[in-house]
Amino acid sequence: MCKKSYYGNCDPETSNNEYCIFHKPNKSEEEAKEFWRKIIKTFEPKIKTITYNKVAKVRCLAFEKRANFEGYVFPPVFKKYEDEWCYWGYFEYALFMDGASFKNCIFEGSISFMRAVFFGGATFRNARFKEDVDFSEAHFIGRTDFTRACFEAPAFFIGTKFVSFGSLNDIDLLKDYGSNVTVIFKNTEFRDRVTFHRASFEAPLLMTGACFHSPGEDFLEDIKAITFKYASNKVELCRALRKSCEKLHLSEEADRAFVCEMRALRRWRTQRKILMAKAIRQKISAAMMRLRYFRFIARPLLLSLLKGYVYLAYLMVKSWFIQATAYLVNIIEFLVADVTCEYGVNWIRPILIWLTTVLLFFPTLYTFVTLLGYRSISPTGSGLSNLLQTSIYFSVVTATGIGYGSVHPVGVGKIIASIEAIFSTFMWGIFLVVFVRKYMRD
Ligand SMILES: [Zn+2]
Repeated sequence: MCKKSYYGNCDPETSNNEYCIFHKPNKSEEEAKEFWRKIIKTFEPKIKTITYNKVAKVRCLAFEKRANFEGYVFPPVFKKYEDEWCYWGYFEYALFMDGASFKNCIFEGSISFMRAVFFGGATFRNARFKEDVDFSEAHFIGRTDFTRACFEAPAFFIGTKFVSFGSLNDIDLLKDYGSNVTVIFKNTEFRDRVTFHRASFEAPLLMTGACFHSPGEDFLEDIKAITFKYASNKVELCRALRKSCEKLHLSEEADRAFVCEMRALRRWRTQRKILMAKAIRQKISAAMMRLRYFRFIARPLLLSLLKGYVYLAYLMVKSWFIQATAYLVNIIEFLVADVTCEYGVNWIRPILIWLTTVLLFFPTLYTFVTLLGYRSISPTGSGLSNLLQTSIYFSVVTATGIGYGSVHPVGVGKIIASIEAIFSTFMWGIFLVVFVRKYMRD
């Protein structure tokens, strides 16, 4: 009896052995041959020859039935048989028409799913990839599950597309992101390099607990080349990356991932609100259609008709209000948290901003206002150079909160000095916090 018979997909002819041919680990070359022959026999994939780029002819497997490979141990491809049956050791260009399950599978050799198309979902739960694996330009259509999968060697997801099946309703997504997730990399382990260069996540992504053991310097650059339909997808990826970097004590990289994560989070909050506002407007246009119809059949009910229009007008205002506040909050957060110090990661920036404003911007402003004929500070002495010197001195004294009083603001200068005082103490506070965070870590 095969030890993995509980999967219920054993090869009947060899199931009396310790392991059937499908589940047997460490297959010999002969057994590997047998394995692939049996795969073709059992799953009856159509063997197609497709023309790629009008020149290259590629043979591929098209599985029309659901491919249940749970627990199978895929042997390495023995190169010398490449021309024969063993060519199928690769799933390049493979087509899975009705879902594919590679749950608990072990891939003993390197394997390629390059340009494979997975219809109706694919699961690689607990799968182990002992050698490198290539999912480049593969299309995952429907639920894709890599929960607890382990990539022990480099993994390539270059140009891979993750698409949700059917029309995913943005509104359902807003209500409950979690239950609408279709691309899952939960607790997935990437022990070696991994790249998602030019990959495209068009479905909601979950990456909790994913672990990158070797994030690499270029990974963060890579993220720029990934397409995310929802900003939340980027948040997931950056968060997993940041946590991995923190575990590995790569504080520089963790910081960069953190900035990326916070920016994506800001975008996602705005995107969410805009989707919400759009949903309300959709509701309004649907209601308008109904009201128009209603007008014909029930003209006497003018009052309720009026109420309906008033309510719709209220909804319209509400939707625009939601959208406007979303943009406003985004801009404020951008100015306060991103521009000043890149979410607390950059300590040089607040000090540069502080210096340029206190030594350059405000003194120029005081001088300019005085030259225009308004009164800003007093006394200034005579001549432009005296005015400039006094302006700089007054600006520093105001910004540092010393305020000797030897020079004091007058007229418009009072307003400018107030703004400078608030701004400079705020920037100083930010600088201290960011500086301490940077140099006084665990
Ligand atoms: Zn078996």
